[in-house]
Amino acid sequence: MKIYIRRIPPQGITLQEQESIGLPDNLSGDIKFIAPFDISAKVDKTQDTLLVETTVKSRFQSFCFRCLQDIEKDLCCSFLLDYTLDRQTDFIDITEDLRQEVILGLPSLIICDETCKGLCPKCGNNLNEGKCLCLPNDTKKIK
Ligand SMILES: [Zn+2]
Ligand SMILES: [Zn+2]
Repeated sequence: MKIYIRRIPPQGITLQEQESIGLPDNLSGDIKFIAPFDISAKVDKTQDTLLVETTVKSRFQSFCFRCLQDIEKDLCCSFLLDYTLDRQTDFIDITEDLRQEVILGLPSLIICDETCKGLCPKCGNNLNEGKCLCLPNDTKKIK
């Protein structure tokens, strides 16, 4: 997203754009984005500073760290960027900074739900779908 300095009115401006911000394919946690990035930027300019309040929304596909089910989640992150301007500045391209912030904003551990019970370590059954047949402890009866 490019912000043209001369097009910013004194009271500031809010820009909306939908674009790909070119995230690398090898993101941690096997995250795959399945929606375009909705970018909204509230731009304010002072004498020599550009302040950009940005919100990025998208949707991604991954799998639950605990139960390994495929999941889809919304991404929504906001951040504040600032740039120093000089007289020669025509425009500021914020795409690279957006990319960095989005990568930093991604959850490091993705789970389908806070209450996810995960998989049984013994039989691999999904414990969200009911109890497995394993016993809590292998108790051997002495006869
Ligand atoms: Zn889960
Ligand atoms: Zn089990």
